[in-house]
Amino acid sequence: MPLYVLIIVMPATIVNIMLEKLEIIKFWLRASLLARFLQLIDVTQSGVASMKGSWRVGRICGIVIAIHYSWFVIFGGILVTLAKMYFPNYHPDWSETTYWLVGTATATLFFASVLLHELAHSLVAIRLGIPVRDITLFILGGVANIRKEADSPTTELAVAAAGPAASVGLAVLFGGTWYFSAGFSEQIAALSFYLATTNGMLALFNVIPGLPLDGGRLLRATLWRLSDDFRRATRVASTSGRVIGYLFILTGVGAALIGSWLNGIWLIVIGWFLQNAAESSYQNSLAYSLLKDVSVKEVMTTDCPTVEEYLSVKELVESYVSKYNMVAFPVVHGRRLVGMVTLDSLREVPQQDWEQTFVAEVMTGIENIKTIHPSERADQALEEMGEREISQVPVVDGGRIIGLLSRSGVLQFLKSKERLSA
Ligand SMILES: [Zn+2]
Repeated sequence: MPLYVLIIVMPATIVNIMLEKLEIIKFWLRASLLARFLQLIDVTQSGVASMKGSWRVGRICGIVIAIHYSWFVIFGGILVTLAKMYFPNYHPDWSETTYWLVGTATATLFFASVLLHELAHSLVAIRLGIPVRDITLFILGGVANIRKEADSPTTELAVAAAGPAASVGLAVLFGGTWYFSAGFSEQIAALSFYLATTNGMLALFNVIPGLPLDGGRLLRATLWRLSDDFRRATRVASTSGRVIGYLFILTGVGAALIGSWLNGIWLIVIGWFLQNAAESSYQNSLAYSLLKDVSVKEVMTTDCPTVEEYLSVKELVESYVSKYNMVAFPVVHGRRLVGMVTLDSLREVPQQDWEQTFVAEVMTGIENIKTIHPSERADQALEEMGEREISQVPVVDGGRIIGLLSRSGVLQFLKSKERLSA
């Protein structure tokens, strides 16, 4: 028996034994019948940090491909569903080994299809000048993290349409394979049929017109072109997304009430995810449009406290740390910025040494910190901060510190600007 057959059949035998023993596994199995419908969500996000707990598997055309650990649950779920229920149901005469081999091939090609859908979005985005950070597969589907919003409705339309178009293409491809293989290979035909229908559903589900789904982006691009008002178009598309999210939740509650509570819970999870993502994509787009063409100088905080380098750690803790809600303080010599001192670095100093230790000894020197010029663009600066996971950056002009760019400061700026324009 070749090695790959062993690798697939061995776990299959173990699963068989567990299935007989554990009621809960059967339960999971029944639940994951739904798994077929689960991997349907895909989101193109901007301005959002990559998912934590993701494993980088490689790069395609410069885009990092990552797998979130929750994805393994769904992969296992779909594989077991295919091998233990789906194929045995339609083809009772196949051998156990065949079920697992065809199941593994189908599940793998299915996730490759999801990846191709995301890649289609990403490659069109890159082509139109929007950099893509990564593509992450997770329990609900795939996410393509783009670095910024589209700058015209045409770009938005092209990026959004690419994913569903790829899925339709795959559905047609697998449909054709099913049609032509039916005569000579039952296995290839069964695999192709499954992939044709799932890719078709993937395309259909994602054109539901609400953000953050592809359909929501198509809707926004259309409204944006018609009204020339990006913010209003975003508001409509994200409200629609939230309504769709609530409808999923309501349907889930209904399903749970009539006894189908596993399906119910899953619909509620999807609804909750959609509703949340609709809200956050609205906030992101709003921030993006408000920060466009704004310089760092306009959004920085100017009343930030600075500490002198000859201050002792004791004085720093007593007069600054307890007074200001900040994780790092700019250190100055006169008005010249010489470094930053963080709360983390203070924690490394034993309390009995606080009086004899000076800020200059524990700070990170100017050569090792990120600074920014007041004339730089605010949106680009924030993007970089998000990527490097820093929450505040000193704004420096000619060696002197003139302010601090922080996420909370920018949030303040956004709130006041939104109120003014509302
Ligand atoms: Zn998509």
